[in-house]
Amino acid sequence: MIAPVLPTYSRADVSFERGEGAWLTSTDGKKYLDFGSGVAVNALGHAHPALVKALTEQAQKLWHVSNLYKIPEGEKLAKRLIEHTFADTAFFQNSGAEAMECSIKMARKYHAVSGHPERNQIITFDGAFHGRTLATIAATGNEKYLEGFGPRMPGFLQVKFGDLDALKKAITKETAAILIEPIQGEGGIRVPLPGFLKALRELCDLNGLLLIFDEVQTGVGRTGKLFAYEWSGVTPDIMAVAKGIGGGFPLGICLATAEAGKGMTPGTHGSTFGGNPLAMAVANAVLDQVLAPGFLDHVQKMSLFAKQRLAELKDTHKSVIAEVRGEGLLLGVKTVVPNGDFVSAAMREGLLTVAAGENVVRLLPPLIVTETEINEAISKMSEACRKLEAATTKGAA
Ligand SMILES: *Cc1c(COP(=O)(O)O)cnc(C)c1O
Repeated sequence: MIAPVLPTYSRADVSFERGEGAWLTSTDGKKYLDFGSGVAVNALGHAHPALVKALTEQAQKLWHVSNLYKIPEGEKLAKRLIEHTFADTAFFQNSGAEAMECSIKMARKYHAVSGHPERNQIITFDGAFHGRTLATIAATGNEKYLEGFGPRMPGFLQVKFGDLDALKKAITKETAAILIEPIQGEGGIRVPLPGFLKALRELCDLNGLLLIFDEVQTGVGRTGKLFAYEWSGVTPDIMAVAKGIGGGFPLGICLATAEAGKGMTPGTHGSTFGGNPLAMAVANAVLDQVLAPGFLDHVQKMSLFAKQRLAELKDTHKSVIAEVRGEGLLLGVKTVVPNGDFVSAAMREGLLTVAAGENVVRLLPPLIVTETEINEAISKMSEACRKLEAATTKGAA
């Protein structure tokens, strides 16, 4: 008998009733410190008063109108994103995968209207994650996600993450774009070597390719800047944004330069729900907070503090933790034990974390996290480590 909800997730046996800031309360009354943030979604924590206010005020006025009409809240959001990024234009959808779909379509269309319809191949990197639609699983290139779903959508080629020589060899007359996450999230918080994104920009300029950044997980303050690309000194032509921008309300955005977006004329793309007034009101409220003076400084300060505490934790629990990685509050600990065991052990101590590739456990606290909460997370992880160590010793004896 199949589960009432299609069982594509193996879910932990817990559900939550309410949340406040970095804390969640389960239906059985237990409190959890949330260092998963719904996988980098609840950027401002749970039930942030400014977001609750924005959503409820908009809900009293207007929920949905079609994109056949002007939506002032959306124009406001687009203008603010343009003011604070490389972009000249924005398109609104409902998820990260949809923002990626728009980015992929835009890159292909750009070359088609430039007289090069044959330039429709996009180069991606191993360990990437770009979503679960048919196009984005092809871009992701993970066989596990492609298996059994029929012909793989053509137009994607994958090279080794960080391998510039392989990348240069992969570029042909059919290449349209290079697509990369400035830091790989699902892949295991993999940070490219300094200068890698800059080298990609140069390769794109040299070969007339578009550079696409997938900032679905790295964006909206997660790395201590509004967007992670700001650390690299270069800008993309197209960028996908989602997760944190809605603070928990579903929203995906494709940002682009005027040049990259030139093929996306009336009728070429659309979305029924994308950019609806509820999502736009919440995203504007998220930006109010993230752009407020001192907010990103706080993220950078908490990042430094968390990294120091995690380094200590690693030193005292070498048989559990092998490495600490990441930028801002997009952090990971590579574990010696299976990462799933660490996630479960931390959860038993009342700390939520998220597993990722390369046997890494992701720590994605809300950006409003405090030193006290980081200290609390560290002691919970420390206790989890002690229990994992005890279990290993017992198993070995
Ligand atoms: C989560 C994620 C996506 C997919 O977003 P959905 O909202 O689940 O469709 C795409 N790219 C990256 C980098 C992500 O982390």
